[in-house]
Amino acid sequence: MLPLFQNITDKVVDIAATEASEQGERISCRSGCSACCSQLVPVSKAEAVSLLKLIESMPGARRSEIEARFEKNMVVLEEAGLLEALEHAALDHDKERLRAIGLDYFRLDLPCPFLQDHSCSIHPHRPLSCREFLVVSDPLYCADLDPGHVKNVALPKTVSPIIYEMCSGDRSRDRGFIPLVQLLADAESLLAGQPDPAPAVAWVRRFFKRLCG
Ligand code: SF4
Repeated sequence: MLPLFQNITDKVVDIAATEASEQGERISCRSGCSACCSQLVPVSKAEAVSLLKLIESMPGARRSEIEARFEKNMVVLEEAGLLEALEHAALDHDKERLRAIGLDYFRLDLPCPFLQDHSCSIHPHRPLSCREFLVVSDPLYCADLDPGHVKNVALPKTVSPIIYEMCSGDRSRDRGFIPLVQLLADAESLLAGQPDPAPAVAWVRRFFKRLCG
């Protein structure tokens, strides 16, 4: 079902971008600007499994390169003492704490392993949260990550949290997403924890019920 959810996300973002332009705002995101790819990116468990399969399908040399980048980022996180905080972040309901973890993470300067020459090397498969991140503020605020000045395009609906919820078994223990940086470290539990397949129509009904309230 992921291509459907990606497609709907893209449509929602297109609508929001058009509305922002009509209101005289200018989308700052440009090819070659990749500051947001050093942020802490959440990815739903369904997307995580899909990305694991994508990595597995890559030619050997490319796959090794991507895996080495994930490993390096995890080593830096551990050395910085941020790994434990990050592991709890998905369950943390304290928004201020999550914000602080996000800033600490950005300061470590750990570009996403999929970033290649300032472009997303998996663009058609990129996570929903990456698709939803579009700004109208000065790119300098993204480069220095000044959250008080980064102005996101307001989306009429945000699809990613709906998918996180649909990927969550027990919401008190499982938010349905992981930080992208932990993709390979969590591979075993992600692949073992896949839900029983439901009929497509059931997924679509659940999704639209949440999307349309
Ligand atoms: S998946 Fe692509 S768009 Fe998302 S953070 Fe990584 S490089 Fe950037």
